[in-house]
Amino acid sequence: MKIKELDFIPGFKKKVMLAPYTTWNIGGPATYFWEPNVEQLPKVLEYAHKNAIPVWFLGRGSNVLIDSKGLDGIVICTRKSLQEINLKDDVITAEAGVPMPKLSKFAAGLGWGGYEYLIGIPGTVGAGIAINAGLTANGRKEIGDVLIDVELMDMKGNRWWESKERLALGYRASNIPERRLFILRARFKATYHDEIEEIKHKTATHLAERRRKQPLSKPTAGSTFKQPEGGKPAGWYIDRAGMKGFQIGDAKVSEKHANWIENDGNATSNDVLQLMQVIKNKVASEFSVYLESEVVALN
Ligand SMILES: Cc1cc2nc3c(=O)[nH]c(=O)nc-3n(C[C@H](O)[C@H](O)[C@H](O)COP(=O)(O)OP(=O)(O)OC[C@H]3O[C@@H](n4cnc5c(N)ncnc54)[C@H](O)[C@@H]3O)c2cc1C
Repeated sequence: MKIKELDFIPGFKKKVMLAPYTTWNIGGPATYFWEPNVEQLPKVLEYAHKNAIPVWFLGRGSNVLIDSKGLDGIVICTRKSLQEINLKDDVITAEAGVPMPKLSKFAAGLGWGGYEYLIGIPGTVGAGIAINAGLTANGRKEIGDVLIDVELMDMKGNRWWESKERLALGYRASNIPERRLFILRARFKATYHDEIEEIKHKTATHLAERRRKQPLSKPTAGSTFKQPEGGKPAGWYIDRAGMKGFQIGDAKVSEKHANWIENDGNATSNDVLQLMQVIKNKVASEFSVYLESEVVALN
Protein backbone atom coordinates (compact mmCIF):
# COMPACT_ATOMS: atom_id res chain seq x y z
CA MET A 1 0.00 0.00 0.00
CA LYS A 2 1.40 3.41 -0.99
CA ILE A 3 0.10 6.62 0.41
CA LYS A 4 2.55 9.20 -0.89
CA GLU A 5 0.03 11.98 -0.35
CA LEU A 6 0.61 11.67 3.42
CA ASP A 7 4.40 11.72 3.23
CA PHE A 8 4.42 15.46 3.91
CA ILE A 9 2.79 15.00 7.32
CA PRO A 10 5.42 15.36 10.03
CA GLY A 11 6.24 12.16 11.86
CA PHE A 12 4.60 9.74 9.41
CA LYS A 13 6.72 6.55 9.55
CA LYS A 14 6.80 3.41 7.41
CA LYS A 15 7.26 -0.23 8.45
CA VAL A 16 7.27 0.17 12.21
CA MET A 17 7.37 -2.99 14.34
CA LEU A 18 4.44 -2.85 16.72
CA ALA A 19 5.56 -5.39 19.34
CA PRO A 20 7.53 -2.76 21.33
CA TYR A 21 4.37 -0.63 21.40
CA THR A 22 2.48 -3.30 23.32
CA THR A 23 2.80 -4.65 26.85
CA TRP A 24 2.59 -8.23 25.49
CA ASN A 25 5.48 -7.47 23.17
CA ILE A 26 3.55 -9.09 20.31
CA GLY A 27 2.75 -7.62 16.88
CA GLY A 28 4.27 -7.39 13.42
CA PRO A 29 4.95 -4.24 11.39
CA ALA A 30 2.51 -1.45 10.65
CA THR A 31 2.78 -0.32 7.03
CA TYR A 32 2.28 3.26 8.25
CA PHE A 33 2.60 4.52 11.81
CA TRP A 34 1.76 7.95 13.11
CA GLU A 35 1.68 9.68 16.47
CA PRO A 36 -1.08 12.20 15.82
CA ASN A 37 -1.53 15.88 16.39
CA VAL A 38 -4.98 17.43 16.49
CA GLU A 39 -4.38 19.77 13.54
CA GLN A 40 -3.41 17.06 11.03
CA LEU A 41 -5.65 14.28 12.34
CA PRO A 42 -8.77 15.25 10.31
CA LYS A 43 -6.68 15.27 7.13
CA VAL A 44 -5.26 11.80 7.82
CA LEU A 45 -8.59 10.24 8.81
CA GLU A 46 -10.40 11.77 5.84
CA TYR A 47 -7.68 10.64 3.45
CA ALA A 48 -7.80 7.08 4.81
CA HIS A 49 -11.60 7.06 4.68
CA LYS A 50 -11.77 8.32 1.07
CA ASN A 51 -9.16 5.84 -0.09
CA ALA A 52 -10.49 2.88 1.92
CA ILE A 53 -7.18 2.56 3.80
CA PRO A 54 -7.57 0.61 7.06
CA VAL A 55 -6.87 2.59 10.23
CA TRP A 56 -6.21 1.25 13.73
CA PHE A 57 -6.00 3.25 16.95
CA LEU A 58 -3.43 2.34 19.55
CA GLY A 59 -2.79 3.80 23.00
CA ARG A 60 -0.15 2.12 25.15
CA GLY A 61 -0.97 -1.31 23.71
CA SER A 62 -1.93 -2.80 27.08
CA ASN A 63 -5.24 -4.35 26.01
CA VAL A 64 -4.58 -5.45 22.43
CA LEU A 65 -3.36 -8.56 20.67
CA ILE A 66 -1.76 -7.35 17.45
CA ASP A 67 -1.39 -9.80 14.56
CA SER A 68 2.20 -11.02 14.31
CA LYS A 69 1.88 -10.67 10.54
CA GLY A 70 1.43 -6.94 11.04
CA LEU A 71 -1.21 -4.41 10.07
CA ASP A 72 -1.41 -3.19 6.48
CA GLY A 73 -2.74 0.32 6.87
CA ILE A 74 -2.21 3.26 9.21
CA VAL A 75 -1.69 2.78 12.96
CA ILE A 76 -2.43 5.97 14.89
CA CYS A 77 -0.74 5.73 18.24
CA THR A 78 -1.07 8.08 21.22
CA ARG A 79 1.80 6.71 23.30
CA LYS A 80 3.71 9.99 22.98
CA SER A 81 1.19 12.44 21.56
CA LEU A 82 -1.97 14.09 22.92
CA GLN A 83 -0.42 14.27 26.39
CA GLU A 84 -1.95 17.50 27.69
CA ILE A 85 -3.70 17.46 31.08
CA ASN A 86 -5.01 20.53 32.90
CA LEU A 87 -7.47 21.83 35.47
CA LYS A 88 -10.00 24.60 34.96
CA ASP A 89 -13.06 25.43 37.07
CA ASP A 90 -12.87 22.15 38.98
CA VAL A 91 -12.78 20.09 35.78
CA ILE A 92 -9.80 18.04 34.60
CA THR A 93 -9.32 17.89 30.83
CA ALA A 94 -7.04 15.11 29.64
CA GLU A 95 -6.06 14.37 26.05
CA ALA A 96 -6.39 10.84 24.69
CA GLY A 97 -2.75 9.88 25.19
CA VAL A 98 -2.54 10.78 28.89
CA PRO A 99 -1.76 7.60 30.83
CA MET A 100 -4.42 6.72 33.40
CA PRO A 101 -1.76 6.54 36.16
CA LYS A 102 -0.94 10.19 35.36
CA LEU A 103 -4.62 11.11 35.64
CA SER A 104 -4.69 9.29 38.97
CA LYS A 105 -1.71 11.27 40.28
CA PHE A 106 -3.09 14.55 38.94
CA ALA A 107 -6.40 13.99 40.78
CA ALA A 108 -4.53 12.91 43.92
CA GLY A 109 -2.62 16.20 43.85
CA LEU A 110 -5.98 18.01 43.98
CA GLY A 111 -7.16 15.88 46.87
CA TRP A 112 -9.86 14.25 44.72
CA GLY A 113 -10.78 10.77 45.88
CA GLY A 114 -12.10 8.05 43.55
CA TYR A 115 -9.23 8.08 41.04
CA GLU A 116 -6.75 6.09 43.16
CA TYR A 117 -7.10 2.68 41.49
CA LEU A 118 -6.34 4.15 38.02
CA ILE A 119 -2.70 4.20 39.18
CA GLY A 120 -2.51 0.47 38.35
CA ILE A 121 -4.08 0.53 34.87
CA PRO A 122 -1.23 1.18 32.44
CA GLY A 123 -3.31 2.40 29.48
CA THR A 124 -4.34 5.78 28.09
CA VAL A 125 -7.40 7.86 28.88
CA GLY A 126 -8.70 7.45 25.28
CA ALA A 127 -8.60 3.66 25.31
CA GLY A 128 -9.69 3.56 28.95
CA ILE A 129 -12.95 5.30 28.03
CA ALA A 130 -13.46 3.28 24.83
CA ILE A 131 -13.53 0.10 26.94
CA ASN A 132 -14.57 1.67 30.25
CA ALA A 133 -11.52 0.36 32.09
CA GLY A 134 -11.84 -0.36 35.77
CA LEU A 135 -11.82 -2.85 38.60
CA THR A 136 -14.20 -5.62 39.59
CA ALA A 137 -12.55 -6.64 42.88
CA ASN A 138 -14.18 -5.07 45.98
CA GLY A 139 -17.08 -3.54 44.05
CA ARG A 140 -17.15 -2.28 40.47
CA LYS A 141 -15.25 0.95 39.77
CA GLU A 142 -14.82 2.34 36.27
CA ILE A 143 -13.27 5.37 34.62
CA GLY A 144 -16.83 6.23 33.51
CA ASP A 145 -17.69 6.96 37.17
CA VAL A 146 -15.64 10.17 37.08
CA LEU A 147 -16.16 11.09 33.41
CA ILE A 148 -18.20 14.11 32.29
CA ASP A 149 -17.88 13.98 28.50
CA VAL A 150 -15.55 13.22 25.60
CA GLU A 151 -14.50 14.97 22.43
CA LEU A 152 -14.79 12.63 19.45
CA MET A 153 -13.59 12.73 15.86
CA ASP A 154 -15.11 10.66 13.08
CA MET A 155 -13.43 9.35 9.96
CA LYS A 156 -14.41 12.46 8.02
CA GLY A 157 -12.58 14.67 10.51
CA ASN A 158 -15.77 16.03 12.18
CA ARG A 159 -15.34 16.85 15.87
CA TRP A 160 -17.91 17.15 18.65
CA TRP A 161 -18.44 16.66 22.38
CA GLU A 162 -20.58 13.78 23.59
CA SER A 163 -21.88 13.44 27.15
CA LYS A 164 -21.00 10.35 29.15
CA GLU A 165 -24.69 9.37 29.23
CA ARG A 166 -24.65 8.91 25.45
CA LEU A 167 -21.68 6.51 25.48
CA ALA A 168 -23.63 3.54 26.88
CA LEU A 169 -20.78 2.71 29.23
CA GLY A 170 -21.05 -0.77 30.68
CA TYR A 171 -18.77 -3.49 31.98
CA ARG A 172 -15.64 -3.08 29.79
CA ALA A 173 -17.85 -1.66 27.07
CA SER A 174 -19.03 1.51 25.37
CA ASN A 175 -20.86 2.25 22.14
CA ILE A 176 -17.78 3.90 20.60
CA PRO A 177 -17.30 1.85 17.46
CA GLU A 178 -13.87 0.26 17.15
CA ARG A 179 -11.77 1.96 14.44
CA ARG A 180 -14.52 4.42 13.47
CA LEU A 181 -14.51 7.08 16.21
CA PHE A 182 -11.38 8.53 17.78
CA ILE A 183 -11.48 9.91 21.32
CA LEU A 184 -9.51 13.16 21.31
CA ARG A 185 -9.89 14.25 24.92
CA ALA A 186 -12.12 13.85 27.93
CA ARG A 187 -13.29 15.89 30.89
CA PHE A 188 -13.40 14.55 34.43
CA LYS A 189 -15.32 15.78 37.44
CA ALA A 190 -14.32 16.80 40.92
CA THR A 191 -15.29 14.03 43.29
CA TYR A 192 -15.29 14.08 47.07
CA HIS A 193 -12.28 15.72 48.70
CA ASP A 194 -9.95 13.64 50.79
CA GLU A 195 -6.67 14.22 52.65
CA ILE A 196 -3.78 13.94 50.16
CA GLU A 197 -1.97 11.62 52.61
CA GLU A 198 -5.03 9.37 52.73
CA ILE A 199 -5.17 9.21 48.92
CA LYS A 200 -1.44 8.40 48.78
CA HIS A 201 -1.98 5.64 51.29
CA LYS A 202 -4.89 4.14 49.31
CA THR A 203 -2.85 4.32 46.09
CA ALA A 204 0.19 2.62 47.64
CA THR A 205 -1.99 -0.11 49.18
CA HIS A 206 -3.65 -0.73 45.84
CA LEU A 207 -0.29 -1.04 44.03
CA ALA A 208 1.08 -3.39 46.69
CA GLU A 209 -2.00 -5.59 46.35
CA ARG A 210 -1.53 -5.74 42.58
CA ARG A 211 2.16 -6.66 42.95
CA ARG A 212 1.18 -9.47 45.30
CA LYS A 213 -1.50 -10.96 43.02
CA GLN A 214 -0.48 -10.10 39.46
CA PRO A 215 2.56 -11.03 37.31
CA LEU A 216 3.56 -7.40 36.82
CA SER A 217 7.16 -8.15 35.85
CA LYS A 218 6.07 -10.27 32.83
CA PRO A 219 4.85 -9.15 29.39
CA THR A 220 1.05 -9.51 29.58
CA ALA A 221 -2.09 -7.60 28.66
CA GLY A 222 -3.63 -7.76 32.13
CA SER A 223 -6.83 -9.80 32.40
CA THR A 224 -7.38 -11.88 29.28
CA PHE A 225 -11.08 -12.63 29.80
CA LYS A 226 -13.93 -10.59 31.21
CA GLN A 227 -15.59 -11.65 34.41
CA PRO A 228 -18.34 -14.07 33.34
CA GLU A 229 -21.94 -13.93 34.55
CA GLY A 230 -22.35 -15.61 37.92
CA GLY A 231 -20.00 -13.63 40.12
CA LYS A 232 -16.81 -15.72 40.05
CA PRO A 233 -13.79 -14.17 38.30
CA ALA A 234 -12.54 -15.78 35.07
CA GLY A 235 -9.26 -16.70 36.80
CA TRP A 236 -11.16 -18.78 39.35
CA TYR A 237 -12.48 -21.09 36.62
CA ILE A 238 -9.18 -21.23 34.70
CA ASP A 239 -7.31 -22.10 37.89
CA ARG A 240 -9.86 -24.79 38.86
CA ALA A 241 -9.58 -26.21 35.33
CA GLY A 242 -5.91 -26.85 36.18
CA MET A 243 -4.57 -24.55 33.50
CA LYS A 244 -1.98 -22.51 35.43
CA GLY A 245 1.37 -22.94 33.67
CA PHE A 246 -0.24 -24.45 30.53
CA GLN A 247 1.58 -23.23 27.46
CA ILE A 248 1.19 -23.09 23.68
CA GLY A 249 4.37 -21.93 21.96
CA ASP A 250 5.61 -19.13 24.18
CA ALA A 251 2.15 -18.11 25.38
CA LYS A 252 1.66 -19.32 28.94
CA VAL A 253 -1.12 -19.17 31.52
CA SER A 254 0.46 -17.28 34.41
CA GLU A 255 1.25 -19.31 37.54
CA LYS A 256 0.57 -16.20 39.59
CA HIS A 257 -2.84 -15.26 38.14
CA ALA A 258 -4.71 -17.70 35.92
CA ASN A 259 -6.55 -15.00 33.94
CA TRP A 260 -3.26 -13.49 32.74
CA ILE A 261 -1.33 -14.86 29.77
CA GLU A 262 2.42 -14.26 29.79
CA ASN A 263 4.65 -13.95 26.76
CA ASP A 264 7.38 -16.32 27.84
CA GLY A 265 9.83 -15.26 25.11
CA ASN A 266 8.73 -15.05 21.51
CA ALA A 267 5.00 -15.70 21.65
CA THR A 268 3.06 -14.95 18.46
CA SER A 269 -0.50 -13.70 18.19
CA ASN A 270 -1.42 -17.19 17.02
CA ASP A 271 0.07 -18.80 20.15
CA VAL A 272 -2.08 -16.51 22.30
CA LEU A 273 -5.24 -17.03 20.22
CA GLN A 274 -4.84 -20.80 20.33
CA LEU A 275 -4.21 -20.74 24.07
CA MET A 276 -7.28 -18.57 24.59
CA GLN A 277 -9.38 -21.04 22.61
CA VAL A 278 -8.12 -24.01 24.65
CA ILE A 279 -8.91 -22.14 27.88
CA LYS A 280 -12.41 -21.25 26.66
CA ASN A 281 -13.13 -24.85 25.63
CA LYS A 282 -11.86 -26.29 28.91
CA VAL A 283 -13.82 -23.84 31.08
CA ALA A 284 -16.95 -24.35 28.97
CA SER A 285 -16.75 -28.12 29.16
CA GLU A 286 -16.00 -28.24 32.90
CA PHE A 287 -18.24 -25.46 34.20
CA SER A 288 -20.63 -24.57 31.33
CA VAL A 289 -19.20 -21.05 31.65
CA TYR A 290 -18.47 -19.18 28.43
CA LEU A 291 -15.53 -16.82 28.68
CA GLU A 292 -15.39 -13.68 26.57
CA SER A 293 -12.18 -11.94 25.60
CA GLU A 294 -11.37 -8.68 27.34
CA VAL A 295 -8.39 -8.17 25.05
CA VAL A 296 -9.06 -6.61 21.64
CA ALA A 297 -7.54 -8.43 18.65
CA LEU A 298 -6.15 -6.03 16.04
CA ASN A 299 -5.76 -7.74 12.67
C1 LIG B 1 -0.33 -4.86 34.00
C2 LIG B 1 -1.71 -4.54 33.46
C3 LIG B 1 -2.75 -4.28 34.34
C4 LIG B 1 -4.02 -3.98 33.85
N1 LIG B 1 -5.05 -3.75 34.74
C5 LIG B 1 -6.26 -3.42 34.26
C6 LIG B 1 -7.35 -3.15 35.17
O1 LIG B 1 -7.23 -3.22 36.37
N2 LIG B 1 -8.55 -2.80 34.63
C7 LIG B 1 -8.75 -2.69 33.28
O2 LIG B 1 -9.86 -2.34 32.85
N3 LIG B 1 -7.75 -2.94 32.40
C8 LIG B 1 -6.51 -3.30 32.86
N4 LIG B 1 -5.51 -3.56 31.98
C9 LIG B 1 -5.76 -3.48 30.53
C10 LIG B 1 -5.47 -2.09 29.92
O3 LIG B 1 -4.48 -1.36 30.61
C11 LIG B 1 -6.72 -1.24 29.82
O4 LIG B 1 -7.71 -1.91 29.07
C12 LIG B 1 -6.46 0.11 29.13
O5 LIG B 1 -7.65 0.85 29.07
C13 LIG B 1 -5.92 -0.02 27.71
O6 LIG B 1 -5.34 1.20 27.35
P1 LIG B 1 -4.28 1.31 26.18
O7 LIG B 1 -3.97 2.73 25.97
O8 LIG B 1 -3.13 0.43 26.44
O9 LIG B 1 -5.15 0.77 24.98
P2 LIG B 1 -4.72 -0.11 23.75
O10 LIG B 1 -4.44 -1.49 24.21
O11 LIG B 1 -3.67 0.56 22.96
O12 LIG B 1 -6.08 -0.10 22.93
C14 LIG B 1 -7.24 -0.71 23.46
C15 LIG B 1 -8.45 -0.38 22.58
O13 LIG B 1 -8.74 1.00 22.64
C16 LIG B 1 -8.80 1.56 21.32
N5 LIG B 1 -8.30 2.93 21.40
C17 LIG B 1 -7.06 3.33 21.77
N6 LIG B 1 -6.99 4.67 21.77
C18 LIG B 1 -8.19 5.12 21.37
C19 LIG B 1 -8.73 6.43 21.14
N7 LIG B 1 -8.03 7.55 21.36
N8 LIG B 1 -10.01 6.53 20.69
C20 LIG B 1 -10.74 5.41 20.46
N9 LIG B 1 -10.30 4.16 20.65
C21 LIG B 1 -9.02 4.02 21.11
C22 LIG B 1 -7.90 0.65 20.51
O14 LIG B 1 -8.22 0.72 19.14
C23 LIG B 1 -8.21 -0.69 21.10
O15 LIG B 1 -9.40 -1.21 20.58
C24 LIG B 1 -4.23 -3.92 32.45
C25 LIG B 1 -3.17 -4.19 31.58
C26 LIG B 1 -1.92 -4.51 32.07
C27 LIG B 1 -0.80 -4.80 31.11
